Amino acid sequence: MTNMAQIGMNEVENYGSGGSNFFALKNDKDVAQVRFMYDTSADLSGYALHEIEVDGKRRYVNCLRTYNEPIDNCPLCAAKSKIQVKFFVQVYDIKDQIVRVWERGRGFGQWISGLFTRYNPLVGAVIEIERNGKAGDKNTTYQPFPISVDDTKLEDLPETVNPLGSIILDKTFDELEFYVKSGFFPVEGQQRGATNTAGDTPRRRAVPAEDETPRTRRQAF
Ligand SMILES: [Zn+2]
Repeated sequence: MTNMAQIGMNEVENYGSGGSNFFALKNDKDVAQVRFMYDTSADLSGYALHEIEVDGKRRYVNCLRTYNEPIDNCPLCAAKSKIQVKFFVQVYDIKDQIVRVWERGRGFGQWISGLFTRYNPLVGAVIEIERNGKAGDKNTTYQPFPISVDDTKLEDLPETVNPLGSIILDKTFDELEFYVKSGFFPVEGQQRGATNTAGDTPRRRAVPAEDETPRTRRQAF
């Protein structure tokens, strides 16, 4: 995506686990009308990541290697931490007029592919999402119901969120190696505390996009 926003320190707080900016339908048959903030399937990518514990909290951290690279390219892979694939789907919540992040698993590409083939650009479609499954049910599914189509464009909506550096900790090889040995992150280069991603993020986002490419292990779905 080319229109990802930098996230200010205060905003980053909203993207921690359970933050208010996550999209969620909590109960069976709950619905919400959204726009998926993508034109085509090429705009959507998943992330390969690890789930680790930082300061007593579960956090995602960016995997540093692609599947065909040696396992030693990522200290967490080398330490046998499992790789997960997640999508942090940008949805515009029509009722609340706010961008939310919908965390989805590996199967999301398949789930949304039918919408991409029917609506181009997809952002022009109002989609109602319905939850099927009681709270806590692991077999919960979500069904999309297209409601209407108009000429709304991405530029008409608020800026989207870059998950990398906010929801997903964006760590270097050395930082991950330190973590594997010690169970926490080095404080050096961060503002305060081992988990301060908020202070870290704006500085990292300021580099040109091409500089971060080798470390941004996105996976096209
Ligand atoms: Zn890894």
